[in-house]
Amino acid sequence: MAGPTNALTGWQHPRRGVLFVVTGPSGVGKSTLIRSAMARIPGLRFSVSATTREPRAGEVDGKDYHFMSHESFEQSLEQGEFLEWARVYDQSYGTLRKPVEEALSAGESVILDIDAKGHRQVKASGLRAVHILLLPPSLDELERRLRGRGTDNETVIQRRMSQVHEQIAGIEGFTHVVVNDDVDTAHAVFQGVLLAALSRISNRTEIVERVRGWL
Ligand code: 5GP
Repeated sequence: MAGPTNALTGWQHPRRGVLFVVTGPSGVGKSTLIRSAMARIPGLRFSVSATTREPRAGEVDGKDYHFMSHESFEQSLEQGEFLEWARVYDQSYGTLRKPVEEALSAGESVILDIDAKGHRQVKASGLRAVHILLLPPSLDELERRLRGRGTDNETVIQRRMSQVHEQIAGIEGFTHVVVNDDVDTAHAVFQGVLLAALSRISNRTEIVERVRGWL
């Protein structure tokens, strides 16, 4: 008989969280897809990166990024505090190892929004992760979206476009790909990838143990 101690609820955290690495060219819609997935799927935490770049209008320190001086970034780097880091558009970006490991151990799943260099470092680190590549339907459409965003001047847009190849060259190294063409479909596919990973038996040992108690 299933007793209250081993009852299953509609959703419960895995014993150890799942690490999601989300990569894709600037302007592909990473932040929007991540935000809506986080609003719908319980137990997801966004990994707030450290960066040396200036905050954009509306960005909040500690929420969007930990905005850091070049000196403090270098110091954290020397002390081995980064799980991965990269220079993107002349600025440094990095994921602090400690909060990620603490969240995963506490059963929270963590989403990293990082560039392709960072994605390769996470793979090389041996940490188990789901690596998701977000793609625009075409390069023309990506450029159109970057212009439409209205946050970048022409030089920045050209620089972002010139980095696209680097983001997508290692496509085979990802475990999943999501094309952001029709927005509703992209949201459904992205959330489907997260939910499928979170539902893998190998990630849900706590459910396996409870259900064994029913036998
Ligand atoms: P933005 O300046 O537009 O917020 O981000 C620029 C690029 O830096 C994006 O492609 C984003 O994924 C990447 N990025 C942001 N945080 C990190 C990080 O912690 N590590 C790495 N490797 N890339 C990051």
